[in-house]
Amino acid sequence: MALDPSCGRIALIANPAAQNGRGAWAAVEAASLLRARVGDEGFQLLLTERPRHATALAASLDPSVGTVVALGGDGLISEVAAGLMERPVDERPALGVIPVGSGNDYAASLGVPASIGRAIDCVLAGRTAVVDVGRVNGRYFVETLSFGLDAAIALDTVERRVRTGRTGTRLYLESAVDQLFRHLSIYDFTARLTGGDAAAMRTVSTAAYLLAVQIGPTYGGHFRICPGAELDDGLLDLCYATPHLGPWKALAVLLAAKGGRHTGNRHIHLDRASRLVLDFAEEPPGQIDGEKIEGTHFEIDCIPRSLTVIVGK
Ligand SMILES: [Mg+2]
Repeated sequence: MALDPSCGRIALIANPAAQNGRGAWAAVEAASLLRARVGDEGFQLLLTERPRHATALAASLDPSVGTVVALGGDGLISEVAAGLMERPVDERPALGVIPVGSGNDYAASLGVPASIGRAIDCVLAGRTAVVDVGRVNGRYFVETLSFGLDAAIALDTVERRVRTGRTGTRLYLESAVDQLFRHLSIYDFTARLTGGDAAAMRTVSTAAYLLAVQIGPTYGGHFRICPGAELDDGLLDLCYATPHLGPWKALAVLLAAKGGRHTGNRHIHLDRASRLVLDFAEEPPGQIDGEKIEGTHFEIDCIPRSLTVIVGK
């Protein structure tokens, strides 16, 4: 199968350090498979050398590139998307993903399988969708932005993965149990929301264990925190959990969230908005597509249907 030449060349941006070095082998395998399918002329491989490098690489791609494929975890995919968003909309290549990470939430949201060969089949099949991108204080995100308990878990997961080499749901649950039983903190915040279920601006002022602002439905390795979130509805999906939950009840809610079954709990609140301004009384742990974000004041909006992505079946 050959990609239509009018669709442009394929650039593969890979993080060789993904998953404790598994990314390097994955990049070699993916590059060899792509070269075999589209030839040397149609393909280029770019390896990242440092954090945020993928953003610079994606922002400065040659105009002949029609598809950029991000190989790595959600953080790398997010960095590539950020680079594409820096380009004018009519010079933005389509984004394909080859998930080589711990959670791979965004690939799952796009329906792209977590196998290199099958992900490449998706890229070459070229089935696309146009999706929303989130933005917070000028930084882009494609799947998730969250504060509080879950962000503390996500950040602890990263530290623990480096230390232990473990991955996936088990790693996440280890971090979760540690955070629930040792650090279950409450964060006071005010959110001013615009758009979504009510046309007028409205204010939510409360205390919560966590607050997630989602483009896609999941975070933390397929926890369906906002099961109704759609990638292309122009809206941010919100979920926050209010007191008081002890560690065991909080753990039960968290486990229910794995299957998106937490939403009936009276401590769980869902909302939607096209824009929100968030102010925390004290700085909470924060994550943006799995990477750390700091501060107490966050201006968040949804850039509707701004990125073409390659999706699975
Ligand atoms: Mg949405």
